[in-house]
Amino acid sequence: MILYARIIGVNEMENRQLVIVGGGPAGLSAAIYGRRSGLDVLVLENGISGGQVNVTSKVENYPGFKRIDGMELAKSFREHTDMFGAEFRESRVESLLFEGGDKIIRTDKGDIMADSVIISSGASFSKAGCKGETEFTGRGVCYCAVCDGALFDGLPIAVIGGGNSAVEEADYLTQFASRVYLIHRREEFRAQKTLIERALANPKIEPVMGFVVDEIAGGDMVERVVLRNLKSGETREIEVDGVFVFVGLKPNAEFLGDKGPIRRSRGDWIVTNEKMETSVEGVFAAGDVRDKFLRQIVTATGDGATAGMAAYEYLSNQYYLRSALLEPERVRAFFMSSIDPGHLAIAAQIEEIEKAGGRGIMKIDAHRNVRIREKLDIKELPAIVSLERGRKVRERVVSVIDDVRDFCKTEMP
Ligand code: NAP
Repeated sequence: MILYARIIGVNEMENRQLVIVGGGPAGLSAAIYGRRSGLDVLVLENGISGGQVNVTSKVENYPGFKRIDGMELAKSFREHTDMFGAEFRESRVESLLFEGGDKIIRTDKGDIMADSVIISSGASFSKAGCKGETEFTGRGVCYCAVCDGALFDGLPIAVIGGGNSAVEEADYLTQFASRVYLIHRREEFRAQKTLIERALANPKIEPVMGFVVDEIAGGDMVERVVLRNLKSGETREIEVDGVFVFVGLKPNAEFLGDKGPIRRSRGDWIVTNEKMETSVEGVFAAGDVRDKFLRQIVTATGDGATAGMAAYEYLSNQYYLRSALLEPERVRAFFMSSIDPGHLAIAAQIEEIEKAGGRGIMKIDAHRNVRIREKLDIKELPAIVSLERGRKVRERVVSVIDDVRDFCKTEMP
């Protein structure tokens, strides 16, 4: 079904059905599912499509590809998305504004009003936070092994971190570097067992466990790292020409601001339910930017598929509500909360009355349809309302089914 209706009236602002912020594996999967459902899909991306996959040396855990170059996988994601006709635009999202239920995406190329939004802006590498890190960034301090590894051909380097990225990229970097000091602050790595085993079997890798980097030092370029043992306090210096920092991720969610209605967990990750719905109706999040257990390409694509389908379901519901609730000559609707047992009981009793030949009453979950509730200015739940061509003519807060009966009895035919 092709849905090109609009929830809101068209004004001079660009108005789109589904806007996807970020063109990594999550965003591209969402775009594929959105397009295949017939939605008008616009993907906003800051750089090249594929996100972090582009800076991943080798991908070995995406089913169907035993070993594939990250850039190659990113390229095929994009080609696949293009095949379904999603529109791409290179632009930077500055903020996401919610005005009276409208969703406005402010970008460096202008504002876009979206019926629904999927945030799939991914995550970025964190900084180690040691002295000299910022000063030597681009002068020996790096965050991408694929991009910068070849610069250290035949030279000793340090890798900071003990997670999958650090352990995997340390191994990758041995094809260039003469020696890789893998510096981790604890005695055990956090990475997956197979990655640890492979790295430790590599004669060019020297694990330096229990040490933090206090300082990255040098002249024009990095020359050494100053380490400190967290237990004994022992300090140690190692001469290196480069330092690769892989100490975790932070979500690319700055454009949501410090506060704002989209709920986030500690660390600013976006909180969603299993349908990828955020705390704001019609706004979904998918991939690494989300608060989740496992950040992988395969989980990002899964999130994207779910978000794409959930956005489609949301939009279909909104368009249906518009045509069934706001356009007819006269209609009655029961606004309730689908998580309140009392409200559900009244809804079930309404259905019984309908089955016995009573006039139909639409049942609307007010929590999932905040925008329509706001538009109709329904303050208290559960409530029954009569509408004429989208205009509220009567409203009553109800507590028992007899309230609904009274409302219907006293209503003008
Ligand atoms: P991560 O799993 O969060 O690991 C971060 C590492 O950095 C930890 O070992 C942590 O130490 C250390 N660390 C954090 N802050 C530090 C600091 N200030 N100074 C020194 N060390 C610090 O992050 P990641 O390795 O970047 O991976 C991010 C996500 O991508 C993870 O979900 C990961 O599984 C996934 N990933 C998967 C693959 C793969 O499956 N092939 C490859 C790459 C990444 P502690 O251990 O002491 O906390």
